[in-house]
Order: sequence, then C-alpha cells, then structure tokens
Amino acid sequence: EELDRLQKVIAKSGHTSRRKAEKLIEEGKVYVNQKQVTELGTKVRESDYIVVEGIPLEMPNKLYILFHKPTKVITSVSDDKGRTVVTDFFKDIKTRIFPVGRLDYDTSGLLILTNDGEFTNLMTHPKYKIQKKYVAKLKGYLLREEVKQLEKGIKLEDGLTQPAIVKVKSQDRERNVTHVEITITEGRNRQVRRMFSHFGHEVVKLSRVEYGPLNLKGLNAGQGRTLSPHEIKVMR
Ligand code: URA
Repeated sequence: EELDRLQKVIAKSGHTSRRKAEKLIEEGKVYVNQKQVTELGTKVRESDYIVVEGIPLEMPNKLYILFHKPTKVITSVSDDKGRTVVTDFFKDIKTRIFPVGRLDYDTSGLLILTNDGEFTNLMTHPKYKIQKKYVAKLKGYLLREEVKQLEKGIKLEDGLTQPAIVKVKSQDRERNVTHVEITITEGRNRQVRRMFSHFGHEVVKLSRVEYGPLNLKGLNAGQGRTLSPHEIKVMR
C-alpha cells in the first residue's frame, strides 16, 4: 500500500476538501495512530488510523459509474455560471466522484465517473490507447481521400493524430451532410471536431458511443449505471 500526503487521504475519504484538511491539520484537529499531527504533507497510508475532528476516517468503497451524458451539460463537478454539471445527476451519492476525461458541452455520450483516481490516470494515459468510438453528423460531403488521411493521421496544431478508424454510414449530397463513425485512441481537447474541421467539415452533432469494451446499451441520455466487477476488471 502506498504512502500519501495526509491532506490528500483526508480529502479522498470525503470528509472535506484538501484545502480544509490542511487547515484542520494545522489547527491540531487531526490524529494519526493516536498521535496528533500538525505538519502538512506528513505521509500516511489509507490503512492508518486517522481521526479528524474526533471522527475516525473511513475510506469510501470504489465506485464506477457509466453515464450517458446529455448535451448541454458540463463535464465538471461544479460550474461558476451555475450550468448543469455531470455530477448533478448523482446528488444522492455521498462520495466525491469525478469524470474520467471529458466530453464537450455539446457532445453527448459515454462518460465514466469514479472516485478512483488511479483508475482515472490509467484510463486517460495516452500509452493505454483505449479506443473511443464516436458517431458524428458533419456538414459537407466527406471525400474518400479525406477518410484515408484521417485514418493515417493528420497534422493538427498540437501534433500528428494517431491512426483512426473511419466508417462513412451515409452521405446526402442534396442536404450536404455526412454521417460517420470515427474511432480514436487519444483524447485531446475537441479532437474529433478539429479532425473534421481540418477538411472544412463542421461537426453539427457528436456522440461517444463506445469507450473500450463499454457501450451505452440500455441507457438513455441522463441515465447511468454502476459498472459490474467484471467490467472493471477488463478495463484495468
Ligand atoms: N472529440 C470532440 O471534439 N469532442 C468531444 O467531446 C470528444 C471528442
């Protein structure tokens, strides 16, 4: 078991924020294995006996939620403009959960929420190359040559994109739209939108339908469910 900073462990337990935990430590309201600790950054284990303001800390069980994010929802735990955020859908959950990666305000689809920071790091680390499949509606007629380039990799401001899988589902020359599926292994900011706008195609609708082995079957926008132990195991 790893050593961690005391204030981090307190925050992780859900007792309070990291900032307030630091204050409580400095005020002498924190005991580790029956000893008062006032030094910030003292290293502890989650299994140490930690008492904060007279209350023994209990580490929360790990929780993983598969959420079908609607559009017009912010992928964040709070918003200073008071807009709806993803955690508003899970107000009855007592532990602090946060999103794994992010989807744009106008993007819907599969988003995982968890209180497991280590899992989050794993899932979002580029070296794990988790496949994420999106369905998109584009303005304009996507050319075969453009598909080829997207599959090979294109040069965006922040570098070359990894190979993608692109499947054109339908095209309508009269209405000037293309429906397409695209699978990417990265998660750069607004990446799918930027990949298509590289060729002048505006994305007018975007939804993430798969994340690794997970999909949205049985979930309408705004609904979520917990991951099964088996699903968690195959993700790791
Ligand atoms: N790519 C985007 O452009 N937006 C998202 O929300 C996700 C991937």
